[in-house]
Amino acid sequence: MVQEYIAGVDIGGTWIRVAICTKDLNEELIKKKKSRTIKETKFSIGKLVCKLLSEILEENLIKKDQLVGIGVASAGPLNIETGVVFNISKFGFKEISLRDPIEQAFPGIPLYFINDASGAVLGVHYFEADEDEINNIVYITLSTGIGGGVICNGHLLIGKEGNAVEIGHGSVESRSNIKCNCGGVGCWEAYSSGSGVKSRALDALEKKNINADILLKIVGGDLSKISAKEIFKAARKGDILSTKIVDECVFYTKVGVGLINNYYDCSTIYFGGAMMKDKEQIIPHIIKQFEDEPLIFTINRPPKIKTTKYEDEIGLMGALTLVKYKLEQNDVVS
Ligand SMILES: [Zn+2]
Repeated sequence: MVQEYIAGVDIGGTWIRVAICTKDLNEELIKKKKSRTIKETKFSIGKLVCKLLSEILEENLIKKDQLVGIGVASAGPLNIETGVVFNISKFGFKEISLRDPIEQAFPGIPLYFINDASGAVLGVHYFEADEDEINNIVYITLSTGIGGGVICNGHLLIGKEGNAVEIGHGSVESRSNIKCNCGGVGCWEAYSSGSGVKSRALDALEKKNINADILLKIVGGDLSKISAKEIFKAARKGDILSTKIVDECVFYTKVGVGLINNYYDCSTIYFGGAMMKDKEQIIPHIIKQFEDEPLIFTINRPPKIKTTKYEDEIGLMGALTLVKYKLEQNDVVS
């Protein structure tokens, strides 16, 4: 019998990752490949996805007709039926169509789309969740932006187009004048995402009313070199401005976690995303808060807090899981 394969794609603002695996999704057999996201025209991303998929098939001596499904997880929002990504500043275009180019290059192969954080929660569900938490898990990405995925009562929450858990744009500070990428004010993403942390530091530096000598030394006085990474590093070394911004990032993450637990009554929240490179400055504070004094932030019994061991690849693992679950008509995605 000819071996059947499934493919996964994860499209982010910086990287596009693809993977291929046997249909049974045996972790040891997963092959991966990645390339920097190209944003020259609105067709660049679709073209690059097709190129990477063709290459990974060729490199592993797999023919197109052995492929029984392709799962695409993308930074969103996106419409999971039409495969169109919309309102996303980091791709540089108002709308990007993903379904058309992939269908043209891989005709007749079932194609499934999912918001990347919803994909990630599927990856957590299949690859790492424990028995006692598996039916009620939330995944939160703290990255350039903030996104979430929820499995509640054993079902993935989808919404009318596929964007049920845009938690980064929930307000965590009603009297805020801090602007978010989405155009709103007071969003969790504006305080606690990588882009939020960076722009808050740059705003404060412009006002020059708080000491940031250590941060400025780290970047050699060049403000264009400041990102969340440098701010977290400066905070570790005692920089006053950076410490304040990191403290607020952590505080508003407690607010966000509390709201999520109120809405979904989850057993466990898994964190992932690029900011987990500095997780020691974030996660222990969240765990301690919800162990010691959860009621300040949530009325429900608090969740366990964990980080995904798959780091930057959990979205890709989720894209593969989506195909497996769709093909076997698993209850989680039905
Ligand atoms: Zn927002």
